[in-house]
Amino acid sequence: MTKINSVLGPIDTANLGVTLAHEHIQDSSTGIPQNYPELLEPGYMNHIIDGLNKAHAGGIETIIDATTLDLGRDVNILAEASRRTGVNIIACSGWALEKPRFFPGVSVEHFAQAFIRDIQKGIADTKIKAGVLKGASDKAGVLPGEGTVLRAVAWAHLHTGAPIMLHSHAVNQVARQQLAILKEEGVNLSRVKIDHANDTTDLAYLTWILDQGCFLGLDRYPGSVISPSDRTKTLKALIDAGYADRLCVAHDWSLARCLSTTSVAGSPAKRAIINPQGFLYIKEVVFPQLREMGVGENVIQKILIDGPRNFLAGAGSTKDSI
Ligand SMILES: [Zn+2]
Repeated sequence: MTKINSVLGPIDTANLGVTLAHEHIQDSSTGIPQNYPELLEPGYMNHIIDGLNKAHAGGIETIIDATTLDLGRDVNILAEASRRTGVNIIACSGWALEKPRFFPGVSVEHFAQAFIRDIQKGIADTKIKAGVLKGASDKAGVLPGEGTVLRAVAWAHLHTGAPIMLHSHAVNQVARQQLAILKEEGVNLSRVKIDHANDTTDLAYLTWILDQGCFLGLDRYPGSVISPSDRTKTLKALIDAGYADRLCVAHDWSLARCLSTTSVAGSPAKRAIINPQGFLYIKEVVFPQLREMGVGENVIQKILIDGPRNFLAGAGSTKDSI
């Protein structure tokens, strides 16, 4: 039996059910929910509960929340949301942005110790434990601070067994650099998921990632940059190439964020127009299209359940990940 930390305690990975592998219950900036909740959207907790109740009613059982501390992580909100809706939520440790201004002296070891504490002892004084580790690099490639964090994520993974998810810039093929660093640190790449991979349709690059042993996060739906139908064609091509059990779908959607009227995701009203289905877009829009393209129900179940479970459990592993 392999267990993973959820925000309400360890759960058997066999019981995760339908899992969205990269979402945000809320995102903002460090400390906003705890210090300036009035900067979040009015009624944000209601948006969260409402969005999760709808997702749960539509069959979503588990969500990996990809919100690190620097993206405004608040595990008390996650725990309350999970308790009130019955959706399992797995919180992440790690770091998303380039190291902050006053951190140049923070070493790999310093960061690793902090991340390990999040997974083994709990986040801040909450006793709520993270289940996954996250690192990030965007179009500029792995910046120096991001490299430090990535190595710390590797160390924390080697110490705890927690799986690694990486924000990655698909068009610039940044996973090539990220995976080289993880390899140098001795990480088995079958414990790594490369996210936002469906921001490209370059199948040669995507199958290269999969052939390193990684999982692939096809987690931007409906997304911008490229069309949802192109994303679905890419998903279908990867299924046809035999990779269904290492594909993890999600929306990279946020149920609540800071007051905003100008960003792509924008205000709640704007977001409701962009994606009225929220966490159910894939189930309600993408899978019907896949079925029309000839994809069987067993494959759809594989993508919804087996891919993310294999990522979280470590496929074929009996090692306890806590
Ligand atoms: Zn995200």
